[in-house]
Amino acid sequence: MRQCAICGKGYKRVFARSHSHRATIKKLQINLQWTKFAGRRVKACTQCIKSLGKGKPVKAAA
Ligand SMILES: [Zn+2]
Repeated sequence: MRQCAICGKGYKRVFARSHSHRATIKKLQINLQWTKFAGRRVKACTQCIKSLGKGKPVKAAA
């Protein structure tokens, strides 16, 4: 499953709107990138990578 290894965040359910404004549920994936965390290569969301770079505490995965 596509999930952030640090905060555990996954996809979001959002409505895709057609030209006639019909709503269908689609998955909005988060922006996952490879990064080094706790000495190993993990896929983390870009929000977590940004927080790590600034030395801010990040929420651990539940
Ligand atoms: Zn994250």
